Amino acid sequence: CGIVGYIGKRDAYPIILNGLKRLEYRGYDSAGVALYDGTNIKLSKTKGKVADLEERVSKEISTNGSLGIGHTRWATHGVPNDINSHPHYSNSGNLVIIHNGIIENYASIKKELINRGYTFTSDTDTEVLVNLIEEVKKQEDVKLGKAVQIALNQVVGAYAIALFDRNKPDEIVVAKLGSPLAIGIGEDEFFVASDATPFIEFTNNAIYLEDEEMAIIRRGRDVKVRKIKGDEIVAPYIQELQLNLEQ
Ligand code: GLU
Repeated sequence: CGIVGYIGKRDAYPIILNGLKRLEYRGYDSAGVALYDGTNIKLSKTKGKVADLEERVSKEISTNGSLGIGHTRWATHGVPNDINSHPHYSNSGNLVIIHNGIIENYASIKKELINRGYTFTSDTDTEVLVNLIEEVKKQEDVKLGKAVQIALNQVVGAYAIALFDRNKPDEIVVAKLGSPLAIGIGEDEFFVASDATPFIEFTNNAIYLEDEEMAIIRRGRDVKVRKIKGDEIVAPYIQELQLNLEQ
């Protein structure tokens, strides 16, 4: 299972597609991608291989857009099928998320959200998380990053997540607990991935998030890293990646 994301100046899709191929070694049963083209979110996903996704994308969506997220799923909650594949939308259609890991207390959160009128199309824990973030954002009237932080403090489990908001498409929010997440720092462009292999050809500089850290990645600007618990801002440690020439 793996996650890839891009926000910058180039088309995100080829970077995400190649990135997903490089993460195939991690094992998966489904794959998907969501792209933002300045107006619309375009989403395509499927049970099967990244090659199956590639074929489906070519029939279903246009691939322009300089913001995007991609996912390979290893099903834990809900069988491997097209609907349970990631990315997942929130009920409003504004938020779109990818997630590796498990939200252990998803059932009680789901019940509460259903009581508040939310509906679910998949059987995944992930769709519960994106709607919890949406509900927090609405109830508390906070920005996306803050809503993610508050929501994650209500969650028990493990995750690497990446999401964005149709209404704030210059930002990707990521968070990590238990599953790996690296951020590649390019020139006016940022990459997100489960490990550095999807972006090593574009940049040697990366931030590896620690457990219980999240980051707000702003197009053409910066990466703000903070603790998920409490108010602490973290000075990001940018590592220089070394190419292993023996391989
Ligand atoms: N728990 C999520 C699901 O079953 C994510 C699985 C994964 O790590 O890919 O959809």
